[in-house]
Amino acid sequence: MKKVVSFDLDGTLVSAKFGDMVWNHGIPEAYAEKYSMPFNDARMFIVKEYASVGDSSILWYQIEYWLKKFDLRITAQELLEKYEAFIEPIPGAKEVIESLRNTYMLIIASNAARIFVEKELAYTNFGCYFDHSISATTDYNMVKKQAAFYEKVCSMLNVLPEEVIHVGDHEIFDFKVPSDMGIEAYHFRESGAQILDQGLEENNGRVIYNLTELLDKL
Ligand SMILES: [Mg+2]
Repeated sequence: MKKVVSFDLDGTLVSAKFGDMVWNHGIPEAYAEKYSMPFNDARMFIVKEYASVGDSSILWYQIEYWLKKFDLRITAQELLEKYEAFIEPIPGAKEVIESLRNTYMLIIASNAARIFVEKELAYTNFGCYFDHSISATTDYNMVKKQAAFYEKVCSMLNVLPEEVIHVGDHEIFDFKVPSDMGIEAYHFRESGAQILDQGLEENNGRVIYNLTELLDKL
């Protein structure tokens, strides 16, 4: 008997565009300004710096770390406000959470820092649908890439992995890791990927290309 549906946030319920603007536009822009260099050069440099750390490291998600590293005066809060108009729900997100909340406890399990999670939930008005929102990196000081994260979530909610469904767009963090520990996980892929995936069967029907597919599966 499933009790909880856990959702990743960025790229799953909310478009990745917002994060992309903050990280790959806002920070390079501030850097270009401060060091008087062309925006594209600043962006190339900064994207390389991110890549040298990688999304398996907790530093990747800590915006304060990067602002300090690049010695930028703009605050994280200012950056998030500047680009908030880019916060866009993924098609079907509202319909799905509105429908599932009657049957399941809904939670957010995100790698994004808490300030991003709060901002996105407030701006979309999605916050009211969720019983808990967890920022793995801010609240648990870990990256959602290991069983330990999901174990901690289960123990916090006092449920077994078998009682949890998780949905997200990262193949390892949101799909392989939770699947391997007995969570019923769904890998959300953008609809354009369906053509590329044709003929692939290794995911056993656990890949979805539209969030509303969940309503038939659960
Ligand atoms: Mg994601």
